[in-house]
Amino acid sequence: MKQTTLKKAVVLEDIGVHSGKPARLTIHPAEANSGHTFLRTNLENGRERLIDARHSAVAATELQTVISDGNGASIATIEHCLSALAGLGIDNALIEIDGPEVPILDGSAARFVEAIDSVGIVTLSKSRKVLKVLKTVRVEMGSAWAELVPASSGFRLDVEIDFENRMIGRQRRVFDMSPAAYRRDIARARTFGFMRDVEKLWKAGFARGASLENTIAVDEERIVNPEGLRFTDEFVRHKLLDAVGDLSLAGATLQGTYRAYMPGHKLNFKMLEALFADRTAYSYSDTATKREPQYEHGRAEVFISASAYAADMS
Ligand SMILES: [Zn+2]
Repeated sequence: MKQTTLKKAVVLEDIGVHSGKPARLTIHPAEANSGHTFLRTNLENGRERLIDARHSAVAATELQTVISDGNGASIATIEHCLSALAGLGIDNALIEIDGPEVPILDGSAARFVEAIDSVGIVTLSKSRKVLKVLKTVRVEMGSAWAELVPASSGFRLDVEIDFENRMIGRQRRVFDMSPAAYRRDIARARTFGFMRDVEKLWKAGFARGASLENTIAVDEERIVNPEGLRFTDEFVRHKLLDAVGDLSLAGATLQGTYRAYMPGHKLNFKMLEALFADRTAYSYSDTATKREPQYEHGRAEVFISASAYAADMS
């Protein structure tokens, strides 16, 4: 399998679901072995910062996944955009954003997928980097748990949720990663929240951009959104969507099975931390080291032109 990138840049604009702040996000093609990198523009004094979409850059995992350069630049709610990239099998992309939080759009990954599909995907000359799980690694948080288990091929996710709220209840879904299955079964599943939590979330600085346009609002007895659900088990499908995005912070395509009960961003992140903490638990199919970055991580000023990313496309 060869690496891929987008054929052309795509632009998406909207507010962030937690900050309520607007941002313009441009997903650019990127060269082989560069992975997924965010470029945060429009910082004070026109500064720009690159932040690799890697678990080592994760700064917060409460209700969203946030990455930071450790020096004042951060990007929030990266998971749905990364999920679309990983779900469509895109290995390399430069994600430029001029605000603090990725646009929420309709609360799923559907708009990212539509945008990428509108320009298409190109195959690059280098082999895809695969991270193979070699032994079972497990993490627990209260009653929630997650495991990465070896598999002879492919990436499977097996997620179960069990909420007291009877509009959700117990849902379990197994998903074998492929772009076609991702488009059909996962990409359209929206984020959700409970009406009873809204005031508490607002006070804590969350959900300030949330609305029925971008979130399934769940009451004790009903789904508040007039259009209802897109799938009867849309909730567990969204958990799968989030896990695909969060686990892409491994920086390579996973070969293994992710099993989880009641996962959230924190548990997904702990899973990667536990995996990378044990060097005997994984190996890479392609041992070629990552291209040496031409910038000092999180410090250098960078200037991006589309032509700089066109060289390796075929
Ligand atoms: Zn989500």
